[in-house]
Amino acid sequence: MTAEPLALPRAASDWPAFISDGADSALATGRDVVARLKDGATRTPIEVLELWNDAERVISTASGFTSLFAEVHPDPGVRELSEEKSQAIIAFLTERGQDRELYRVLASVDTAELDAEAARLLEHVLRDFRRSGVDRDDATRARLAEISERSTIVGQRFSRNIRDDVRSLRLRPEQLDGLPEDYRNEHPADADGLVTITTDYPDTIPFLTFATDRDARHAVSRQFNSRAWPANDALLHELLDLRAEQARLLGYDAWPDFDTEDKMIGTGAAVADFIERISQLAGESGRAEVETLLRRAQQGDPSITEITTGDSAYYTELVRREQFDVDAQNVRRYFDFERVRAGLLEVTGRLFGISYRERPDVPRWADDVACYDVHRGDERVGRIYLDLHPREGKYKHAAQFDLATGVRGTQLPEGTLVCNFPRGLMEHTQVVTLFHEFGHLVHHVLGGDQRWARFSGVATEWDFVEAPSQMLEEWAWDADILRSFAVDAAGEPIPADLVARMRTAEDFGRAYRVRTQMYYAAVSYRLHLERPEDHDAAVQALADRYSLVRPLPGTHFQAAFGHLEGYGSGYYTYMWSLVIAKDLFSAFDPENLFDADVAARYRDEILARGGSADAADLVAAFLGRPYSFDAFGDWLDGEIQIKTLK
Ligand SMILES: [Zn+2]
Repeated sequence: MTAEPLALPRAASDWPAFISDGADSALATGRDVVARLKDGATRTPIEVLELWNDAERVISTASGFTSLFAEVHPDPGVRELSEEKSQAIIAFLTERGQDRELYRVLASVDTAELDAEAARLLEHVLRDFRRSGVDRDDATRARLAEISERSTIVGQRFSRNIRDDVRSLRLRPEQLDGLPEDYRNEHPADADGLVTITTDYPDTIPFLTFATDRDARHAVSRQFNSRAWPANDALLHELLDLRAEQARLLGYDAWPDFDTEDKMIGTGAAVADFIERISQLAGESGRAEVETLLRRAQQGDPSITEITTGDSAYYTELVRREQFDVDAQNVRRYFDFERVRAGLLEVTGRLFGISYRERPDVPRWADDVACYDVHRGDERVGRIYLDLHPREGKYKHAAQFDLATGVRGTQLPEGTLVCNFPRGLMEHTQVVTLFHEFGHLVHHVLGGDQRWARFSGVATEWDFVEAPSQMLEEWAWDADILRSFAVDAAGEPIPADLVARMRTAEDFGRAYRVRTQMYYAAVSYRLHLERPEDHDAAVQALADRYSLVRPLPGTHFQAAFGHLEGYGSGYYTYMWSLVIAKDLFSAFDPENLFDADVAARYRDEILARGGSADAADLVAAFLGRPYSFDAFGDWLDGEIQIKTLK
């Protein structure tokens, strides 16, 4: 049997039925499989797992396309319907996770008859059940269900307060000195002669980066770091308490132990060690960078004695501009969207030994979405959609969404890149983002030739997920690769010395930002572990210990730290994935990023395996040794030469 792609509807009017029928039939299959597994019939262990897998494939595919179309479909009705169906799927999965009779059927499967991968599947499935509390007594399960419901509500309120608490400040027009002209044009003075600056990112980030008036920057930074305060303080206490209780009821000492159990890092204590280790690695260079920022600040105002959260972005930008001569406007003209997209497909096709065949005949949800079949030789191994421009009502960030979960011989893996790039010239940071997200997409597709849906594509440990994507960013920083597609209107490729300056400029500030990341990671971990009475005091103590940039007095960063909701105690995962990404990249020859042997091994040992083995084992198979921190340490040490550069 060959794996087939989903058949998306051609007529706009057929979309609601596609979503409804698709999700309903997946749910019907899911319920049918649950009923059959509990029917008392005699089945071999492999028959039990095959049945489970049939449900998993359709449920995870339906979960993928409903989540995607809830975010991208141009018709608000279809988005809403997709959201409803997505919730119905989550409700089914929650109910299934607490089904004790079903758990008993799966727990009684004899693993002696299973091969290693099937045994691993069963182990993961049973672990998912236990993490839902299926093996606890009735009263405990009832309380766990209450906690789950209440945590969802508290978490949603915490996030909503951050979204809704948009603060603003009125400033004199001259306090916008240093900001780009288009920014100042977009912020005219009102009838009182004052300009309003809000805490929304498009207002605040440029302000903190470019405004020369230090007092004004501090005022904006203070507002920004007081969002959702005090409303979120009580909610944060409740959320941390609920999570601690949930972990205890499930038999763990503390939330971070529950949170890390299914991740590469493995234990809560290892998170603490990781934070210490990375902080030490970045300490010396980070302090030197902040010293450089302080000296630059004192040139303008000798009374400045410290670099605060209202200063770091501004002086970093100033040092980069003055020392490395990189003008973002000049860089932009080399990155025409159409050329970049063609270049991305060329580069990744060559790297991974695949080709993309455009399918203009395949139905899509919007006209500017492009569809390609992915081939290895003559065999079609996946289908991708690139939805890369803004549209009304569309998802605002950049992400890869699964459209279909690949299962060998049954279902072709399909994924979608959802981004918001301009149709004309792109910033280089957007090109890097495109390569990053494509790293997730190619992982989903090349990892989609699996027997078990549970292990298909990006089904790996959560703290490994960002490693392949962060590694692919390196290809967007290579001068030779960029010159193959970054060409200006006159046909001139981007000069290699400009790329070298861009890299050096990007490197400056790397170590102190690593320390800031470790401060965030420590807040995420320590608040969950220790649940302090006074969040402000605890967060201030962590800033003293880890951050090299001073928080402004009287601010409450944690109240608007949205990751506390979605990432729990696991903010460290970004840096963990980066450590692994740097280690993976160390196997490539920096002079020849297309080395066919290394690239093929990377494809086969890392991407193609999906979640079928532990990430640490995949990495060891590719590198020929266990993963290490050395490459990451060398990357940070590169900094030492940079900081002395004048
Ligand atoms: Zn990512």
